[in-house]
Amino acid sequence: MNVLLLGAPGAGKGTQAKEIKEKYNIPIISMGDMLREMIKTDKGLEEKVVPYMKTGRLVPDEVVGEILKKRLQKKDCENGFILDGYPRNEDQAKLLDSIGVNLQKVIEIKVSDEEILKRLSGRRVCGKCGEIFHVVSKKPKVDGKCDCCDSNLEIRKDDQEDTIKKRLEVFHSQTEPLEKYYKDKGIFFVVDGEKSLKEVSEMLFKLIGEKGND
Ligand code: ADP
Ligand code: ZN
Repeated sequence: MNVLLLGAPGAGKGTQAKEIKEKYNIPIISMGDMLREMIKTDKGLEEKVVPYMKTGRLVPDEVVGEILKKRLQKKDCENGFILDGYPRNEDQAKLLDSIGVNLQKVIEIKVSDEEILKRLSGRRVCGKCGEIFHVVSKKPKVDGKCDCCDSNLEIRKDDQEDTIKKRLEVFHSQTEPLEKYYKDKGIFFVVDGEKSLKEVSEMLFKLIGEKGND
């Protein structure tokens, strides 16, 4: 089963991707996570990528396209995968088609802009293990510290208000049109992302099927 999760930044794609990974035992391919990881050790890439990420714009297609192609060749993708954050525009979707990636389901987790702004401005991320918290809805046990590894919680550089607005604008203008792209292929589904995390997971599991083959 190859699944693509679509949705605005902060819709909960990352959290739900983890749930799907656990249940179906397929890897998550998160472009945002890969970029954040790779720029730590690759200076050349850092220069190409950081100016875009910091301001909430899309990293150029050639850069993310190469990263994606390499990742999909790894052995763990053989039995399926969850795509999170790729594609984000029509040209990226066309790249997937051109390299023969067969998506069975494209699921959008839908959340209003108003809710997104609330969620992202309160988001805190563990600098070490990546666990995500929220100052209102998912407080850590100890202020500013990760429940899992006790490291300091940080605000992601692109979670500043101006950048959030830019990311939303990019989502509406470039990523949302993919809805039509995948509707035309008959593989597009939507779930209400304002329901509880558990309800959203259950809706996703239902769509994907018990064994991942519905
Ligand atoms: P979010 O979905 O919350 O915006 P991500 O971690 O998925 O966060 O992405 C963070 C940033 O990484 C994006 O704003 C963009 O700059 C860059 N990025 C991630 N995926 C892509 C992609 N497919 N194409 C171009 N840029 C990307
Ligand atoms: Zn942690």
